[in-house]
Amino acid sequence: MESVLKGVRGGECVLDLSPRSTVGGGVEDIYGEDCATEDQLITPWTFSVASGCSLLRDPQYNKGLAFTEKERDAHYLRGLLPPTVSSQELQEKKLMNSIRQYEVPLQKYVAMMDLQERNERLFYKLLIDNVEELLPVVYTPTVGEACQKYGSIFRRPQGLYISLKEKGKILEVLKNWPERSVQVIVVTDGERILGLGDLGTQGMGIPVGKLALYTALGGVRPSSCLPVTIDVGTNNEKLLNDEFYIGLKQKRATGKEYYDLLHEFMSAVKQNYGEKVLVQFEDFANHNAFELLAKYGTTHLVFNDDIQGTASVVLAGVVAALKLIGGTLPDHKFLFLGAGEAGTGIAELIALEMSKQTKAPLEESRKRIYLVDSKVVESVKSFHGKLLFSDSFIFNNFFTFDSIFLNYSFVLFQGLIVSSRKNSLQHFKKPWAHDHEPVGTLLEAVKIIKPTVLVGTSGVGKTFTKEVIEAMALNNKIPLILALSNPTSQSECTAEEAYTWSEGRAIFASGSPFDPVEYNGKVYYSGQSNNAYIFPGFGLGIIISGAIRVHDDMLLAASESLAKQVTDEHYAKGLTYPSLTDIRKISANIAANVAAKAYELGLATRLPRPENLVKYAESCMYSPLYRNYR
Ligand code: NAD
Repeated sequence: MESVLKGVRGGECVLDLSPRSTVGGGVEDIYGEDCATEDQLITPWTFSVASGCSLLRDPQYNKGLAFTEKERDAHYLRGLLPPTVSSQELQEKKLMNSIRQYEVPLQKYVAMMDLQERNERLFYKLLIDNVEELLPVVYTPTVGEACQKYGSIFRRPQGLYISLKEKGKILEVLKNWPERSVQVIVVTDGERILGLGDLGTQGMGIPVGKLALYTALGGVRPSSCLPVTIDVGTNNEKLLNDEFYIGLKQKRATGKEYYDLLHEFMSAVKQNYGEKVLVQFEDFANHNAFELLAKYGTTHLVFNDDIQGTASVVLAGVVAALKLIGGTLPDHKFLFLGAGEAGTGIAELIALEMSKQTKAPLEESRKRIYLVDSKVVESVKSFHGKLLFSDSFIFNNFFTFDSIFLNYSFVLFQGLIVSSRKNSLQHFKKPWAHDHEPVGTLLEAVKIIKPTVLVGTSGVGKTFTKEVIEAMALNNKIPLILALSNPTSQSECTAEEAYTWSEGRAIFASGSPFDPVEYNGKVYYSGQSNNAYIFPGFGLGIIISGAIRVHDDMLLAASESLAKQVTDEHYAKGLTYPSLTDIRKISANIAANVAAKAYELGLATRLPRPENLVKYAESCMYSPLYRNYR
């Protein structure tokens, strides 16, 4: 039985088992009221039992027609609801029927968001029970369109908006958030939303969607999840000129102003929630993403999903694919299109795993991996032999200057990352600058390097052309093709193209899902190589072990667990990932492997270590079933 307390979740197991939690059901004094001195300001929090209309309007406790007769009497609901009492299953059936009637994905997204705002448990029940069908609605690809149109579909604020206006007051802003047991924060600054570029504060759709998956896929309680959007302005001219834009109407703050705000945020988070809150950076532009990860990786519990989560999921898919394509990981040669967060993150984790297997230095393993990126044509970089802009300057300021680029018709070209380009490369690309002659295009690179695995992380659609796939198929009996860019419109090629152009020989996986394809009378299934497989279980593993830092070996542990869960049944269909319908089980196993590694590395603080970590992870997972109210 649960008392319907607003502001505190009564009667449920909260995952934070740290010494900071109060024993005996009291509320932890994380807001400092009890220890504040007389002259300090405090937040006047009150707690009340919800009833009547306020209970119906509270998404955390509302059950709609599923309130029992007894509950209707006890909580002053008589007359506020029609007489029927429904089961949660019937409510689910009814809602799925109505969602399926919408033909436009964005309408489905809005319907799901409405449900989340109305009845949280029902929202999660729908998402958990219909994960394959609803994941593309609340996550990629539809969430991309939702972010693009966030201004017009925006109804009620979700998450915390921290803008430059809040500078100096971020700790106070965090205290406005009604939940106290926050364990995971997903934060974006909206600068690189999926492959859609700078969407400013409208990027909020991403943290909201990711955290919905933390709960649905990883079983982290909704009340423990905090979506945050940091608004430092936008360089998206369309948004700046849109009268309905909901963010700060100014160009992006950069440099010291930007990093000071981020530093204030990171400090306030640690001060308010302690050492064990996981901060997941999401969809930051790569120049800031690498910087923030390096800066806070040693002092905070931080994780960058685009760099680390993607790496872990892709490594899992590649390792699983070895059963189909043959060889060991170090036997293979990789070529990437796109050398940003995802590309270099994946490349590094693959190299790390190769080195663990061969005991060779990391530098040696990196030589099996090549990356092609976009670079600015030399003639526009320099004028009369004088270098005007370096590649890194241009990429760091790409969005700031994109209007200039357009005006002056700057052209971006592709190029293999080679040592002769080293001086003008961004720092995270430098380890991939091999001693190799310059190569101009992806097609040439495929022909010359002869990779066995082709990975797309460019954010640019249609870049795996017919010629490129044909060249892969010419060199390999079974080419492994991974088109990872999101959303679907940015995918390097479609599943149909990969199968058709390789005459049905490719093993294919993509970031956004594709339906099965029929080719020459055979049905081909493609896997979804998306970090949604990893981050929910990874985060759960961190929470249940009370880990205080993220270590690369924990990413490898997550990856290993995911690869192991691919069965012969999946392989028979050509799949390199397990079915998403089993995602809660998958996440529990990933969580257990990650937690085990955290204990092994001495990074876990939840002691004693539970004996059976899989069972423990499962027992901690949030259930969306309705609770009974006394
Ligand atoms: P990023 O901006 O950090 O990197 C993009 C890279 O692509 C840069 O190196 C850039 O030089 C290169 N590039 C751009 N246009 C190119 C072109 N025409 N030819 C060659 N190279 C080109 O972005 P990111 O974070 O690495 O994300 C890239 C894409 O990967 C996005 O679409 C994102 O949605 C997707 N992604 C997918 C997953 C997943 O789970 N499947 C995870 C993370 C990112």
